Amino acid sequence: MQFALSEEQTLLQDTARAFVDKHCPPELAKEWDETDHFPWPLWKRMAEMGWFALPYPETWGGGGGSPLEICLIAEALARASLDVAMAYVGTFIPGLTIHRYGNDEQRERFKPGLLEGEYRIAVAISEPDAGSDAAALRCAATDEGDHFVVNGQKAWCTGAGLPGALIAAYVRTDPAAPKHRGISLLLIPNDLEGVQIRRTPTLARHLLGTNEVFFDNVSVPKENLIGPIHGAFSLLMSGLDMEKTVMAAAYTGVAQSTMDEMLAYSKQRSQFDRPIGTFQALAHPMADLQTEIDAARLLAYRAAWMISAGQPCTREAAMAKLKCSETYVAAARLGMQVLAGHGFATESVMSFRWRESIVATISGGTSQIQRNAVAKSMGLTTY
Ligand SMILES: Cc1cc2nc3c(=O)[nH]c(=O)nc-3n(C[C@H](O)[C@H](O)[C@H](O)COP(=O)(O)OP(=O)(O)OC[C@H]3O[C@@H](n4cnc5c(N)ncnc54)[C@H](O)[C@@H]3O)c2cc1C
Repeated sequence: MQFALSEEQTLLQDTARAFVDKHCPPELAKEWDETDHFPWPLWKRMAEMGWFALPYPETWGGGGGSPLEICLIAEALARASLDVAMAYVGTFIPGLTIHRYGNDEQRERFKPGLLEGEYRIAVAISEPDAGSDAAALRCAATDEGDHFVVNGQKAWCTGAGLPGALIAAYVRTDPAAPKHRGISLLLIPNDLEGVQIRRTPTLARHLLGTNEVFFDNVSVPKENLIGPIHGAFSLLMSGLDMEKTVMAAAYTGVAQSTMDEMLAYSKQRSQFDRPIGTFQALAHPMADLQTEIDAARLLAYRAAWMISAGQPCTREAAMAKLKCSETYVAAARLGMQVLAGHGFATESVMSFRWRESIVATISGGTSQIQRNAVAKSMGLTTY
């Protein structure tokens, strides 16, 4: 068993951390969140680093990065904020679906944009009545010969409102089929006629923005159908283990930042003539939290390693997502207690961590749904 990163991976990790220190320190990420600002220059810099190309195979012009290497970048970016990491992860995950399931023409058409980070892809699965039960989606596309006509509504679509965003929409193309069948994947530019986007006010995640998307007789060319007609539910599921794993790494990155911030404060703030961190009442919970973060990170790295090794890891990815997201929530909660009044002031980064952490156990599949997956792998449940 080998716990150390390779020389190359250590260099990548150091580079990504230095990138965050220089271009997106947490204070700046907080400011972007408060002003609903998407930092395009940061996005361009990520592209210049080659990070958007990294997840794709070298034979396709990509960087050939392993899942662990992708995790290292996501983890470092999340030290700024979860949203900064999500800007990166949320784009290459649907990009990999296009790469894996697109036909030759589509792979060529989308290749430059995917490798160079030209596209911001927004994934549209959820609907008002289809949340955890994703297969219950009803947004419909009818076949009209050389194009589809899409009608319906999507909810919580992250980044759909950014200029030039491509919406990867899972739509029902066969209403008569059982609910896990009859679903197809269409790429829909957000400026097509009939697409309306309405931002949903939320507690955090304001860089990318979360949106309702309405499709009113939107005409989508057949060339934008990715994968088999009626067969997209398996596409949706196929990317989930990677997404959960990389996001799990991101949760540990932001949890570690939160830990570092409260630790620094607890050493510098004195009450009763001693640094508050020396009170056992704070020292032990912080020691417990660091232990939890290290354990969570190992779960994320294990899942990444299993993906590299080609091993099925639905259970392990669910465990990683569950543990890492819950650890971020716990870190932000403890951070607020350690910083006390200073944390409660909205000018503190900790107050931003606390707002943002709440969504970690909801988006990308709730904690309950991850527990269901683990319980199923243990033969306890069938759903
Ligand atoms: C900020 C944000 C960004 C998002 N981004 C996207 C996006 O880009 N694209 C997209 O498609 N979706 C996105 N989502 C939607 C997200 O995937 C859903 O919110 C999530 O799957 C939960 O669905 P729901 O909110 O409808 O809750 P519900 O499914 O209604 O769940 C409500 C509660 O019931 C519990 N529950 C439901 N079913 C079960 C069960 N079988 N067993 C046990 N408990 C259960 C849940 O765990 C939860 O506690 C985003 C959500 C948020 C908040």
